[in-house]
Amino acid sequence: MSLNYESLHDPNAEYTMRELSAETMDVTRSRGGDRDLEITDVQTTMVDGNFPWTLVRVYTDAGVVGTGEAYWGAGVPELIARMKPFVIGENPLDIDRLYEHLIQKMSGEGSVEGVTVTAISGIEVALHDLAGKVLEVPAYQLLGGKYRDRMRVYCDCHTEEEADPEACADEAERVVEELGYDALKFDLDVPSGFEKDRANRHLRPGEIRHKAEIVETVTERVKDEADVSFDCHWTFSGGSAKRLAEAIEEYDVWWLEDPVPPENLEVQEEVTKSTTTPIAVGENRYRVTELRRLIENQAVDIVAPDLPKVGGMRETRKIADVANQYYVPVAMHNVASPVATMAAAHVGAAIPNSLAVEYHSYELGWWGDLVEEEVIEDGYIEVPDQPGLGVTLDMDAVEEHMVDGEELFDEA
Ligand SMILES: [Mg+2]
Repeated sequence: MSLNYESLHDPNAEYTMRELSAETMDVTRSRGGDRDLEITDVQTTMVDGNFPWTLVRVYTDAGVVGTGEAYWGAGVPELIARMKPFVIGENPLDIDRLYEHLIQKMSGEGSVEGVTVTAISGIEVALHDLAGKVLEVPAYQLLGGKYRDRMRVYCDCHTEEEADPEACADEAERVVEELGYDALKFDLDVPSGFEKDRANRHLRPGEIRHKAEIVETVTERVKDEADVSFDCHWTFSGGSAKRLAEAIEEYDVWWLEDPVPPENLEVQEEVTKSTTTPIAVGENRYRVTELRRLIENQAVDIVAPDLPKVGGMRETRKIADVANQYYVPVAMHNVASPVATMAAAHVGAAIPNSLAVEYHSYELGWWGDLVEEEVIEDGYIEVPDQPGLGVTLDMDAVEEHMVDGEELFDEA
């Protein structure tokens, strides 16, 4: 059979490409007892949070259901539906093989990076929840056990007056004192009033001074009560990024995030090596293959993968393992619902070099309502010992906040 679009998506077709289904691998699906089960369905529902969270459920013939989440992005639910035939009938305990199977089957649709990897990530997270429930162990146990019982969470902060240093400092103080966080992040790619042409990526002296004033005002206000990082969202030229990083060296920030565009690794490396300000990068790169280069070239001081986007829980563990060879800590970028946030906490518990997990939804008000359990308390996540991820979707809350036109998950 020739390899074409039809054959790629026919689960019964013969392939010339590497095929990792149980049938072609001669892998037994039967393990006996409760471990002898098959995937029967994969469903998604999008929830309208501060991002469109794509919740994923993997169903089995044993009645056990795994819940996961994929990062937002147009086409992610459609890609997950496209992949469903590739996992139906498979044993969900073969997490790694199924992940590689999906990567291979979706290679023609871009499984090197982008939304295809995001979609696979959502299934991969659900498989960890499912396998944990079947084996009756928490997800962190599937990843090698614990280094810590709770994960530190850093709060992404916003204020209406994002360019006003005092307003940022007021918000920092409020988040520390009222919400209990000891780790914060603010945006630094905010207007200063000195801009003439933002397209050329060059920072004028007044812009550098304004950004340094924000950093100084916030860090001086919270002092040792909180670590503070600052995000630039890939905005500046290499030269400007170096000037900015040098200008804020004296404030000893937690990290400066994404100061330059992501495509050119050599520029990233030069900026990182030019300054004592720690540079964090990683949220818009995919799979260990892409992040490996950042780490091996020592182009990052802190690596920041986004778990439900980068490839899932094992892929994040693989990235952390490479990072650990270079003594690089991991701060997980996260804009997810409680489901993928808890997945990040399990990975964070299981790796030696985890620094923190992001929380990006404090203005939403109902983030925690989406699951039955408490997730973030006093700036930390207690890593649960319940089987799987240890979070249970509150279906009433899911239904209340579903994107228009979405359908609620079936019962198990
Ligand atoms: Mg960022």
